[in-house]
Amino acid sequence: MKNITVLVLVLLNINFMTAQDLYLHAGKMVDTKSGKILGNSTIIISGNKIKSVEKGFTRPASENDSIIDLKNSTVLPGLIDMHVHLESETSATEYMNEFIENEADVAFKSLGFAKKTLMAGFTTVRDLGGSGVNISLRNAINKGRVEGPRIFTAGKSLATTGGHADPTNGRSRELMGDPGPKEGVVNNVADAKKAVRQRYKNGADLIKITATGGVLSVAKSGTNPQFTEEEIKAIVDVAKDYGFHVAAHAHGDEGMQRAVRAGVKTIEHGTLMSEATMDLMKEKNAYLVPTITAGKEVTELAEIENYFPEIVVPKAKAIGPQIQGTFAKAYKRGVGIAFGTDAGVFHHGENAREFVYMVEAGMPAMAAIQSATTTNAEILGMQDQIGQIREGFLADIIAVPGDPSEDISPLKAVSFVMKDGMIYKSK
Ligand SMILES: [Zn+2]
Repeated sequence: MKNITVLVLVLLNINFMTAQDLYLHAGKMVDTKSGKILGNSTIIISGNKIKSVEKGFTRPASENDSIIDLKNSTVLPGLIDMHVHLESETSATEYMNEFIENEADVAFKSLGFAKKTLMAGFTTVRDLGGSGVNISLRNAINKGRVEGPRIFTAGKSLATTGGHADPTNGRSRELMGDPGPKEGVVNNVADAKKAVRQRYKNGADLIKITATGGVLSVAKSGTNPQFTEEEIKAIVDVAKDYGFHVAAHAHGDEGMQRAVRAGVKTIEHGTLMSEATMDLMKEKNAYLVPTITAGKEVTELAEIENYFPEIVVPKAKAIGPQIQGTFAKAYKRGVGIAFGTDAGVFHHGENAREFVYMVEAGMPAMAAIQSATTTNAEILGMQDQIGQIREGFLADIIAVPGDPSEDISPLKAVSFVMKDGMIYKSK
């Protein structure tokens, strides 16, 4: 009995010794909820959570507490990118990789991409499709085995035969096979339901579909509708049973409209969106994820000889340059905007380029910051945990030089990154 008492006291004592809070002194702080910049502030962090936020510079309550001096910076909540692909990154040999890499190769490669993303200030991302390695990556990050952003993943995207995420497009007939719902390829309502349930079984957090053709797949059309409305409806309905929302890749207007009518939550790219579809999105409370950066990048890369397969080049040249203009129109018309980049189509870690393009297209800097914080948190159902620097929220905090509400470009030079109360970058 005596020994147990001693042991308990020792454990309690250790607990007292290590229970230290962090006092983060911020010169300025972005209040993403009100859209205002606050002056000198102290953020007190205990474990992985924000314990309180106080005006001015508060002195630590105990000598075990420590101070983080960010008096010359502006702090913001960790940024959220709703469209990344952490398993891959553009290169001239990208189309060869699927034939020479094993899952382990993809996994090791994705570690570097995840780390770059986190170091760029993106503490949470939505991974919109890979082979399924992205599910293991999420788990490894959550367990603290590797460094990266908090991930919400679709696992493998759903497509129809020959559609944008059919993994065997463009292959010789021998290698083409006939992938089915297990591999994410569906051709009727029953397939669609099975594919969603398979994603649940595999450990996905949400569903991604390719509602129209896409630029980078080895297929002719980048814009044609590729699902019936009935199939999308079945996907959205079953997804709801598992607490999943549905994201739809779409460039062409018809496929986009079917997807919005069927109840998808986000439209990715939205390139040829008509005014009627914009109005429908407002009515259905759907969001546009612009990915302007991807549009700019493929437009440039298409000029490099043999960078893309021949069939991809005209699609990249036709679709890439239109994305920013559509974003500008949709924003002006009042469509909800969820910040997302399609990182992987360009180099990981350059996600903040998107902010510059959004502001260039007419969105105020603060609104762009809110789309990457409060809006995205809400779509992920995390509005009480991330997207704001607020008491009780997770301690996801970044800092930049200058005031990003006046000049957005410093978001490309994040100097401090904290995720879940852990400091990953401080310079
Ligand atoms: Zn994508």
